[in-house]
Amino acid sequence: MVHKLKKPNMDLSIVVPLYNEEESIKELYDWIQRVVSPLNWSYEVIFVDDGSTDTSWTVIEELKREAAPVKGIRFRRNYGKSAGLYCGFEAAQGDVVITMDADLQDSPDEIPELTRMVKEEGYDIVSGWKKKRYDPIGKTLPSKLFNRTVRMVSGIKLHDFNCGLKAYRNEVVKNIEVYGEMHRYIPLIAKQAGFKRIGEKVVQHQERKYGVSKFGIERTIKGFLDLLSVTFIAKFGKRPMHLFGALGTLMFAVGFLTALGLGASKLWYVYHNVAARLLTDSPYFYISLVSMVIGTQLFLAGFLAEMVARNGHERNNYHISQRID
Ligand code: UDP
Ligand code: MG
Repeated sequence: MVHKLKKPNMDLSIVVPLYNEEESIKELYDWIQRVVSPLNWSYEVIFVDDGSTDTSWTVIEELKREAAPVKGIRFRRNYGKSAGLYCGFEAAQGDVVITMDADLQDSPDEIPELTRMVKEEGYDIVSGWKKKRYDPIGKTLPSKLFNRTVRMVSGIKLHDFNCGLKAYRNEVVKNIEVYGEMHRYIPLIAKQAGFKRIGEKVVQHQERKYGVSKFGIERTIKGFLDLLSVTFIAKFGKRPMHLFGALGTLMFAVGFLTALGLGASKLWYVYHNVAARLLTDSPYFYISLVSMVIGTQLFLAGFLAEMVARNGHERNNYHISQRID
């Protein structure tokens, strides 16, 4: 996906990742159409069926048969929401790309204003903020903590990183790569790719009408681990030696200097005929040994990581936004 800057030829793409949402799809589509068709825009609704085991795909096929501006992508198995978004982004042709959940928790009524903010106010991304949220407390509380942490780590002032309802400029979705469970960090990934105009809009939120939530409490733990990777990779992914090499050298130096000091003092005692205790009786002896060993290990880890990064196919992957020849 990265680097293929296909010229968009449509006003709006709406990407909807879904997994077992058979009851909601038709209702969601009708609602989208009620909102968007009076605007006279060219648009498409891309449903990405993430390996549903219910009749979701049949519903999408039926919608398509009504000559609707519907596109469908069906995974053979369940890959997760990020995978759905990735493929939806790859297919999206609209100048503005909007993502929303399929479960009717996100309101299509927000589409016109979100689109306007991207088109006219020049935002790269506008992220929804479910200010008043209709979810169980077991979900809203961890979410608050989660958002605070991501705000601190990323420096992006958003209240609701994981909101499914977001709007993007086409160029943004073609230049970011969402994988694993990274859909929670799209604003952060976009910022790392150089898209800095990130806005926020308070959006309506509903209780889930049909079906069940696809994410449990374990998402909080996975979410924090993913935050570590996403920040770590951005910072040191292309220059691991700067981290491991520095730490390794530092530890080795500390160990080496301690050992040197110990040796010198021992020599001094021997020279002056003072009865000194054995070096191996001193805790500093062991500390210096361990420190030198760990230092060497860290340095080696950094060196190996550097060799891997050097050969990685992404090593010279830059996002070029303009060029004059
Ligand atoms: N989803 C998906 N693949 C998955 C899990 C979820 O495409 O493996 C979709 C799901 O169908 C919904 C959206 O992602 O459209 C958000 O999921 P859900 O409503 O369960 O999350 P919650 O609202 O509980 O955060
Ligand atoms: Mg939901």
